[in-house]
Amino acid sequence: MFSIPRNVTRPARYMGIEPNRVLKQPEKGDVRFALCYPDVYEIGMSYLGHFLLYELMNNLEGVWCERCFAPWHDMEDYLRKGDRSLFTLESRTPLCEMDLVGFSLTYEMNVTNVLNMLSLGNIPIKAEERQKGPIVIGGGPLMLNPTPFQPFFDLIVVGEAEDVLVEIVTRVKAMKGLPRSRIIEELAGLEGVFSPLLGKKAVKRLYVEDLNASYHPVRPPIPVVGSVHNRLNIEISRGCGNGCRFCIAGYGYRPYRERDPLRLAEIIDRATKETGYEEISLLSLSSGDYSCLSSLIGHVRSKHKDISLSLPSLKIGSIAEEEIELLGRGAKGGFTFALETSTAELRDRLNKDIQIESLISHLPLLKRHGWRKVKLYFMVGFPWEKEEDFMAIRDLITPFVRNRIEVNLSVSPFTPKPHTPFQWLAMEDEAGLREKIRLVRKAAAGKGVKVKVRDIRTSIIEALISRGDGRLFPLFEELHRSRVRLEAWGECFNPDIYDEWLRGRNGLGESILGARDANQTLPWDFIDTGVDKSFLREELERAEGKEKTANCYRSCAGCGLSCGAPRQEALRCCTQDSTSYLGVEGTSSQTPGEMAGQSEAAYTTFTIRYSKCGDSRYIGHLDTIDIVLRAVRAAGISLKMHGKYHPKPRVSLSPALPVGIESTCEMLEIEAEGINSMDSSLIGKMDRCLPKGMRIMGATRGGMDSTHNDFGYLLVGETGLEGEVLRTGNGGSRTFYLWQGTNIKELWLSGKYERIVKIDNRRIDGFRADYQRNIQ
Ligand code: SF4
Repeated sequence: MFSIPRNVTRPARYMGIEPNRVLKQPEKGDVRFALCYPDVYEIGMSYLGHFLLYELMNNLEGVWCERCFAPWHDMEDYLRKGDRSLFTLESRTPLCEMDLVGFSLTYEMNVTNVLNMLSLGNIPIKAEERQKGPIVIGGGPLMLNPTPFQPFFDLIVVGEAEDVLVEIVTRVKAMKGLPRSRIIEELAGLEGVFSPLLGKKAVKRLYVEDLNASYHPVRPPIPVVGSVHNRLNIEISRGCGNGCRFCIAGYGYRPYRERDPLRLAEIIDRATKETGYEEISLLSLSSGDYSCLSSLIGHVRSKHKDISLSLPSLKIGSIAEEEIELLGRGAKGGFTFALETSTAELRDRLNKDIQIESLISHLPLLKRHGWRKVKLYFMVGFPWEKEEDFMAIRDLITPFVRNRIEVNLSVSPFTPKPHTPFQWLAMEDEAGLREKIRLVRKAAAGKGVKVKVRDIRTSIIEALISRGDGRLFPLFEELHRSRVRLEAWGECFNPDIYDEWLRGRNGLGESILGARDANQTLPWDFIDTGVDKSFLREELERAEGKEKTANCYRSCAGCGLSCGAPRQEALRCCTQDSTSYLGVEGTSSQTPGEMAGQSEAAYTTFTIRYSKCGDSRYIGHLDTIDIVLRAVRAAGISLKMHGKYHPKPRVSLSPALPVGIESTCEMLEIEAEGINSMDSSLIGKMDRCLPKGMRIMGATRGGMDSTHNDFGYLLVGETGLEGEVLRTGNGGSRTFYLWQGTNIKELWLSGKYERIVKIDNRRIDGFRADYQRNIQ
């Protein structure tokens, strides 16, 4: 049994016990890949791209891909103090013993975590210092400008990595045993890949041409610590055709591609069975643009009625009334709209094509479906803003207030990003941004609106890194020496360190954050995204002239990718056939509760008894409930939903079990639809979706009786401790005690007891059997 110190927070992060994790018995010659996400477990386990690569590589014979996340400070201290290496979750192998170590970089503030994870994994942070050990690969959106941190990587992959990674691991398998430098040289020759060790070359961004032919994960490991987006993520499309001039995702992920709705329906059906998730998120850069949205929502609503849906990014006007009707019956999390600016003139400059009137006209409909809140996103820091633009926010929120819809205003500083038409603009300075945010607050004052502002100094550092060049490399070395890491967490971010470093470097910050000359070569120009630089320049001129550019759904603006509008249309694959196949014609005015049909269907109450032993003792109470309910759903059992608009299942449970304590007698009461008993095959199906160490012990009809409160604790420790001694262990090394007191958490934290196991009082006499069967 894996043991980590009792004072480490959320220890389940490090156990590697998730249902659906992939375990293999590697043979000599197999390729071992550590897929690293440079932030903590909860963030990395929310990232669809991570699961895509994980599943794709593990589907290959002779390749084992394992996960690794950044440890929190307390776990890092434990590793450093004991001279232990950061390890992969599945096999607990030190990073330095893997063949390949790959990082997905999605956020500028995570670069320092890469360095920390490398050093914790006993891998030199600079590529030039690595003579042996794994080849370190960098990928993810940040590689659209890797210049500030590229010396940390042996290889860099630019763009969508799935196809080339399969090629990389296949070639590494074939070349095993060859010198490291020879392998790097060979891999650097692949399209979309380069090695900073071998000098600069023009690199073409990779993208998947046929999204339908590309893989979509269906069996992601299910988090055992609540992840940030704890739900089934389904990617419905990639890229975005809207052409917002500030958006790096819009330019860096072109062209717009959709997945076939019939294929998506199959993926949803399979993945819900494999995971039991209670929520599905239809992922896209602009979900409302997906041409088959209502069919797909209808499929989920009709086939998975106790699962809620969320659309993370909506463009106003892109979601039709029919879709609000369908969504409204089971949507989760409310609606979020990115307005970006308050006036039509500014929106024209940004090429943000939205119809505010359309949103306002939909407010009564939103209310009818129980929605009382919206989140509106704004950006500040564009060079054309005037005071009256901020004051216009007041007029914009008035209709919401009149309709008694709560508004949360989320305001972020605009950061001019590489490869966008605004790459030549300057980042607004701190004082300017503070003044603009003051004006936003003033405009919203007295309207009952909550204003949440993204930290200005974080945004400025983000801009510095994303627009930076090789001159920032020593900064990262310095940050690493100063043990800076986990900077995406507010409490760990200290902008003063950056300010101090920049102060001694004569205008370096200004030259990176300031406006760029039109004729200047930019540090990221060697990355060829497929979009012509001349097109970006023309788009900036159109912004200055308040001119809009048509989106890719209507016509082709000729960005240089040559995907062409007619072809774009062909990629939008919602056919009449698929719409009718998915069978979602018409709408209904049912509330979610009515739709779940609880009034007609037969429901039976069951009490599920389960054990939580070994490594799973580190899973927290609330996470455990989610896990068991997911196992129930994954077994095909529908739960009775309660609540008119945002239904939830009703459950009762035995008292909360502190983290670290094991149990053989946990109970959960549920209301299940359409079944009268839970036989062994159903229990087996539930077991399949439980983490290592958890097991369903049985399920009985009826509610929890008083026995759930009749328990004691078995304490296992060294001899000579106080307590009712039940048995002295073999060789006198361990003694088993019975404890009926309440301060069990303190006993665990005291460290005196090796294991503490909650047991059913009626089974005390049989504890030896319990011990042998369930605990060991
Ligand atoms: S080539 Fe045309 S349709 Fe394709 S991404 Fe560029 S502008 Fe859009």
